[in-house]
Amino acid sequence: MIQRLAIIGVGLIGGSLARALRAAGEVQEVIGCGRSTENLQLAFDLGVIDNCTQDPAVAVKDADMVLLAVPLGAMRAIFEQIGTVLRPDAVVTDAGSVKGSVVADAIAVFQQLPSWLVPGHPIAGTERSGVAASFPGLYRNRRVILTPLPQTDATALARVRAMWQAAGAEVSEMDVARHDQLLAATSHLPHMLAFGLVDALTRMQESDDIFRYAAGGFRDFTRIASSNPVMWRDICMANAEALSLMFDRFGDEMSDLASAIRQGDAEHLLDIFTRAKAARDRFVDGIDPQSSDIPVSN
Ligand code: NAD
Repeated sequence: MIQRLAIIGVGLIGGSLARALRAAGEVQEVIGCGRSTENLQLAFDLGVIDNCTQDPAVAVKDADMVLLAVPLGAMRAIFEQIGTVLRPDAVVTDAGSVKGSVVADAIAVFQQLPSWLVPGHPIAGTERSGVAASFPGLYRNRRVILTPLPQTDATALARVRAMWQAAGAEVSEMDVARHDQLLAATSHLPHMLAFGLVDALTRMQESDDIFRYAAGGFRDFTRIASSNPVMWRDICMANAEALSLMFDRFGDEMSDLASAIRQGDAEHLLDIFTRAKAARDRFVDGIDPQSSDIPVSN
């Protein structure tokens, strides 16, 4: 059981972990830290946290487990503020959607990756943000990827693994670079397509009509364009290299589709659509129907 959990950034991700651990009886006390007093007050009123502060150094003092659940652009400043005040046996993990940047931020601040830091990423979320959007079942049957390095302390890793398992998640481990490449393909590029499509349509002259007559397919495809813009700006900055490679690949695919359409190559189009349908059907069949109503974001 965690005695004192400090959550830096009590939003969808941090708030949901606190709720899940509380529901499982796996945490004694939760300290919330954030910039917005309204959000912290709401977190307190909702029973997500027991106490709060706007100072990360105060939040982590006496905590045995710390979760950093802030946008990626805020990670380095948090490391600078908490590094010297942590309890000697404290374990710190994060939920950032890109792992290379978090590791680089930690090395920039501490000169090497601290043994107490276990980089992680829950592959669960929705397009909503803030503690009001958090719920205890967010991680149930979802994957959490941990990306430990050789310097990572084995006990710290085991404690973070146990924490996510207590929240209902299935935990796996992966190399940092592999994580960032995979997520560029499966999450970051799809978000770019949704943001890009909605923005392109918004800037067309007849955009009012376009949105008025948009149907379910458009709604499904663009749901994730309602995600937090600051979070996504930071993810793009942090995973620029892997995301750029995916853009190149996807650009080739779009050019291929466009030229097949222009040239009236019906057979080639049918090949692409049949292959894609089979792959998507296999993917959907593999999703647990019990939890498929939870909208997975990234
Ligand atoms: P959120 O906006 O719901 O919550 C973030 C919280 O951090 C907010 O309460 C905000 O006020 C606070 N915050 C921002 N800057 C801060 C700072 N400098 N100091 C202290 N608090 C600060 O966002 P979220 O969806 O919970 O995402 C949090 C992290 O989790 C991000 O790094 C994101 O990449 C990652 N993540 C998000 C999802 C998702 O689907 N939303 C999924 C997996 C991982």
